[in-house]
Amino acid sequence: MYIGIDVGGTNLKAGLVDEAGTIVAVERTPLNFQGPEAFAKSLAELAEAVMAQGGVAKEDVKNVGAGIPGAVLDGEILYTTNIPMEHVPLADLFRRYLDLPLLLGNDADCAAVGEYFCGAGRGTKNFIIVTLGTGIGGGLILNKKLYTGMGSGGEVGHLVTHPGGDLCNCGRSGCWERYASATGLIHLTKAAMAEHPESALHTVAAENGAVEGRTAFQAAEMGDETALAVCRRYVEELALGVIDLVNILQPEAVALGGGVAAAPDRLLLEPLQDLVARECFAHRGGKLTRIVRAELGNDAGIIGAAMLGRAI
Ligand SMILES: [Zn+2]
Repeated sequence: MYIGIDVGGTNLKAGLVDEAGTIVAVERTPLNFQGPEAFAKSLAELAEAVMAQGGVAKEDVKNVGAGIPGAVLDGEILYTTNIPMEHVPLADLFRRYLDLPLLLGNDADCAAVGEYFCGAGRGTKNFIIVTLGTGIGGGLILNKKLYTGMGSGGEVGHLVTHPGGDLCNCGRSGCWERYASATGLIHLTKAAMAEHPESALHTVAAENGAVEGRTAFQAAEMGDETALAVCRRYVEELALGVIDLVNILQPEAVALGGGVAAAPDRLLLEPLQDLVARECFAHRGGKLTRIVRAELGNDAGIIGAAMLGRAI
């Protein structure tokens, strides 16, 4: 058995996970950050709670893994994006409260590990997950192992696809995530709506109460030309980064995660696969990278954190 803990913005969610990657028990607790020591203690208590719920003893658990939004290295938190922690030896602190190894992973890396063992990346040797949300996250499995460089590698969202373009919060301009994240799609959608007051995009946005990542796909499904053009443009933005990744790493599969990835195949995965097939230099060798949808949804973080020990 393994325990995986997803450290979210407002909650800690732990799962007891078996060898096959099935979550057999879940426990949650609100994240109430009161310093690294108390944080380590709350992780240990949550791990104990999920063991109790699943009816297993500490001796049956190989390790606890935690997915952290930020950068980690060898059991140390280098920094996190949502909790004020820098250079915290969390695995050591954790052991004061529960005598099990605590492994740390970046949250996107945990999603990659989860999908690699139990989802869209099963059976591959090289695999990339690209998560489309507020920004773009990425996780790389290379030669069956999680690749993180010196701890913070795999930040695919900050590939530059538009030199001199929009300012990114990383300090550079024209990063891929400014254009191809859900946020980028919403910008494209709003710009098209301003130009086309007759478009069904307005109706769909009014029904949903806001312009969202799915708005353009929903209106495109109704046959709206403006929405179809937004979807095509968005796929082109997405392809700019995906093609770079495939040219460099040529994995067997690239999985798209996040809410946007739920779009109909014919509007997202199929045209993206076509562009990748046509434009990737790496494909001249004849091997085609498959573009697929991530399969595990929100469970990927817990399963991947639990399985970290098998990937690092
Ligand atoms: Zn950036």
